[in-house]
Amino acid sequence: GTLDGAVLRTEELEKSFGGNKALQGVSIEARPGEVTALIGPNGSGKTTLLNLISGFYRPSGGRLMLGETEIGGRPAYRIARLGVTRTFQTPLIPKDMTTRAFVATGRYATHKVGIATALLRLPAFRRGYRADDAEALRLLRLLGIEETADRPVDSLALGTRRLVEVARALASRPRVFLFDEVGSGLDESDLRVLEHAVGMIREAGGTVILVEHNFPLVLKLADRIHVLSQGRLIASGTPAEIQADRRVLAEYTGA
Ligand code: ADP
Repeated sequence: GTLDGAVLRTEELEKSFGGNKALQGVSIEARPGEVTALIGPNGSGKTTLLNLISGFYRPSGGRLMLGETEIGGRPAYRIARLGVTRTFQTPLIPKDMTTRAFVATGRYATHKVGIATALLRLPAFRRGYRADDAEALRLLRLLGIEETADRPVDSLALGTRRLVEVARALASRPRVFLFDEVGSGLDESDLRVLEHAVGMIREAGGTVILVEHNFPLVLKLADRIHVLSQGRLIASGTPAEIQADRRVLAEYTGA
């Protein structure tokens, strides 16, 4: 489609909550085939930025572009339809829903019904169930967790659940992936699977935006890092540049 290869861009993006300026003058670019990381202390505006990009919040100012298309302020389902998908820090997963059913709901994220309804609309009740199911199994296999297919998602260890979320994000066949703290709670072997999955998305030309506390993981995965502090961008650069940046170090160590 026309959006293939589109760069996601924010231009002087702003978001205020009452008098609280959660984001001010934030201009970043995330390119296809690259991993763009957003880092910064708690409350620095990372989640707010993800919420703006995915259409959960409306910008208070500035622009949000996907290629030449302005997406700022569009409803979430329409942004999802353009191929922007996200994971959640605390995903809403119906009790007892199996992994394969949950992953298959990724397909419905672009429907107008919204995520909660999409989750409850089990694939078993829809035509095309088998195809979705096969796709879900394929994605679980890709992430090395096919043995969880028939287990309830809420019975899985946190790390495995994160991988299930990644599989669900993949099921919507997005071009832009927003990963919200997807590395948190992962052990070393889960982290390697996650790294592999992100590598595959990047090689396939996907645009990846990572919000991540795990700094070593960010250094390993990111092509470009943006550092937020109190709603403003204080540094942008390659992992090597960011590691050498004293302001960033100060922000993290209080030095
Ligand atoms: P981070 O993800 O970096 O921890 P957030 O984006 O969650 O930071 O928060 C940035 C600022 O925006 C904080 O001051 C937070 O209280 C505020 N904020 C975020 N979401 C809301 C909201 N829905 N209503 C009011 N304030 C919010």
